[in-house]
Amino acid sequence: MSTNPPRALITGITGQDGSYLTEVLLEKGYQVHGLVRRSSTLERSRLKDLYRDPSVYEKSLFLHYADLDDPTTIRRVVGHVQPTEMYHLAGQSHVGLSFDIPESTCDLTAIGTLRILEILRDQPDPPRFLHASSREIFGTPTVSPQDESTAVNPNSPYGCAKAFATQMTRIYRESHGLFFCNAICFNHESPRRGENFVTRKITLAAARIKAGKQKQLALGDIEAARDWGYARDYVEAMWLMLQQDQPDDYVLATGISRTIKDLLEVAFSHVDLNWQDYVVTDERFRRPADACQLLGNPEKAKRVLGWEPGVSFEQLIRLMVDQDLHRVQRAE
Ligand code: NAP
Repeated sequence: MSTNPPRALITGITGQDGSYLTEVLLEKGYQVHGLVRRSSTLERSRLKDLYRDPSVYEKSLFLHYADLDDPTTIRRVVGHVQPTEMYHLAGQSHVGLSFDIPESTCDLTAIGTLRILEILRDQPDPPRFLHASSREIFGTPTVSPQDESTAVNPNSPYGCAKAFATQMTRIYRESHGLFFCNAICFNHESPRRGENFVTRKITLAAARIKAGKQKQLALGDIEAARDWGYARDYVEAMWLMLQQDQPDDYVLATGISRTIKDLLEVAFSHVDLNWQDYVVTDERFRRPADACQLLGNPEKAKRVLGWEPGVSFEQLIRLMVDQDLHRVQRAE
């Protein structure tokens, strides 16, 4: 007797995390549905291998058009798919940019999440739900490392929108008895990271300088430190969160803080270059109200989920540089 596969619905499926999560869920035998917004190209580069694979696309992977500001369409897709699990990863994900476009950031990230919570609450059999929250909800914390009990005190429009969405997810869990969870994610990177994030900016620059296609790299504060992990490890933890007996919130982090200078050292030495010869500082790249002491405590995720980040900082940065070298060479 054949049983129906579990059905996952992913918002933000074309993003860094959404594309890795799709691969992970397909490997686990899920039928995966993704929401995509209309754009002028059908690029969807992070999904292209799956999208072009006739044994996958429209067999176990399905895409549906819906924008986060279009709740009628999202409601229709949810009703049609009837997912058993929903992963909400879509949003304006750039902290610095959120100072330039605060209204749309809050509309999509805060109210967009509330719209989805309302849609799910109305379902006859609501799916298990994961909201991709962020360490930015802590703003500039006064304790380090930060964990699930750290005070919420955002200092950016992005962090503020995520704080609203995180608290709403908790409220729906506690008030309506729904299996709704927050993954409070610290930075996680990969070769699929957008080029306007500092990790990718550095690994791409190392590759381009090595290939003679770039001369300099302008950065803000290179002493700034972050807790950086590998995106594929983090989506595995998101899946684990929805397999537990009880819904809960978890900090996803490595517990290790590294500076941008460390990142430069690993990236440039991997291509036998000395970063000091190429990096210039540019005040324009300093973020307003930059946070300090940014370090996550993943103890709960390790203890309850049995989760362990599998890729080290050095491995991650080398992986990113290798992929960027490959891309730069292919473009020649
Ligand atoms: P990402 O690469 O920027 O992907 C964002 C996704 O959201 C893309 O698929 C994008 O679609 C989609 N999206 C944006 N606006 C939309 C709209 N109006 N309607 C429908 N879809 C929309 O982000 P990520 O790194 O994968 O992160 C996933 C989630 O985790 C985000 O919510 C992010 O804020 C959160 N998070 C990430 C990190 C991190 O370090 N990566 C840390 C903490 C929290 P397009 O492809 O069409 O642009």
